[in-house]
Amino acid sequence: MLRKALYLLQALNRLSWDADRIRRYQNIQLQKMVMHAYSQCSLYRKKFEEHGLNPRSVKTVDDLKRIPFTLRNDIALDSFRTEAVDDAIKQASLAIRRDAAVKSYTAEMVAANYRKRHYTWKNTSGSSGLFVSIAVDKKAEDFYDAIYARSLLHAGYRPWQRILYFTWESNIKKKIYETLGFFRKEHIHISETANNQHKILEDSKFDWIIGFPSAFRFLDKASMQKKRIQAKGIVCHGEILSEFQRNHIQELFGCAVFDAYAASECNRIASECAERNGLHVAMDNVIIEVIDSGGNYCRPGEDGEIVLTTLQNYTMPLIRYKIGDFATMGDAHCKCGCRFVKLDKIQGRCNDFFYLPSGRIINPLELITVIEYCGAYDVYNYRLVQQTHSTATLYAVDYPAFDRSIVDELKSKLTKYMNNEICVSAQIVKDLPANLIGKRRVIISKVKDRSIND
Ligand SMILES: [Zn+2]
Repeated sequence: MLRKALYLLQALNRLSWDADRIRRYQNIQLQKMVMHAYSQCSLYRKKFEEHGLNPRSVKTVDDLKRIPFTLRNDIALDSFRTEAVDDAIKQASLAIRRDAAVKSYTAEMVAANYRKRHYTWKNTSGSSGLFVSIAVDKKAEDFYDAIYARSLLHAGYRPWQRILYFTWESNIKKKIYETLGFFRKEHIHISETANNQHKILEDSKFDWIIGFPSAFRFLDKASMQKKRIQAKGIVCHGEILSEFQRNHIQELFGCAVFDAYAASECNRIASECAERNGLHVAMDNVIIEVIDSGGNYCRPGEDGEIVLTTLQNYTMPLIRYKIGDFATMGDAHCKCGCRFVKLDKIQGRCNDFFYLPSGRIINPLELITVIEYCGAYDVYNYRLVQQTHSTATLYAVDYPAFDRSIVDELKSKLTKYMNNEICVSAQIVKDLPANLIGKRRVIISKVKDRSIND
């Protein structure tokens, strides 16, 4: 716990560093990590040698460009498609199947000088279509916890305030610092029915709430207001947070909603400060590159793919790792005084982009915005799936007061938005379950071949 507290104090101090000092810190951490990865991980040694790259020549963040990318397929030995795993789960025990899926890693990524007792495995959620396991050592875990805590404090949370946490885990043990009155948490399991969630919200003492945006979907605004259920702040992570959802959750709880971007691979990557005008990258935890389709660095306002390099976890270094997400680059200016560079928006998973016959590409956030601003409160539980280059299906969940006319309106709005290039059909369904850890992917593309030939 002492190490965690020290890490937190150091992390908070770094919020006041100027840009040069942050960059110097990143350069030193990067040099250390690259040398370590080269000497201890056979995958990196092989990559560096294939490219004739001397690890000692990587001295600054600018030198990263010369290092080849690391792909998810480098980490997952066998490709376990989530659809395949989902099918398997229908027939067998969820825990066993998932466990089997996440064991699909390669030992080439784990540092040879780390023994099993030094680290634990963390599993990604599988929303990329691939389950991946990441080995994390104790020091890195403490660092991640400190960065997580800092992101909350940066948003305006105070350590004595109570947190209500929407979670997929069961039997979570209280931490020592919680018994001392810091960062106290209560939990709501994401599988609770809306009625039970209301009851827990009513009965619990909390100031802040943390959860996936979709966790708040099924709460009833009228009864929330009647019972005066309110919060001081809400942090959303794990899914794309659209402006519609942000406004909706703000109205539900009468407080500000903060967006955070995290991944199982390295915990908090970026998060909004109290100013809420972009997500500050945790530059002491990761180096983020946002690159366009030509491999060039994006400038503020430009969209590109996120490539990350982790700076703290020596058990399983991730160097120039394509995590599969797409974002709008921001700048490093913020009224909060922090000089950590920002991402303006997270646009969604690259795998779920819609590729139109004309070559136009539409990202998930655009489609979510079209759907949600079309009076889509009535089809709040929906999913839009691109089936082929020219067809898509809108699934909407039925319920007693459901107005089916809105589905026709949505179909025509979506078809128009996509210039009549994609024919959108609709299906009313009974349920659209979340994935294994409660994440809801509302935009899915099954078109993996980006060339147009169907
Ligand atoms: Zn800020």
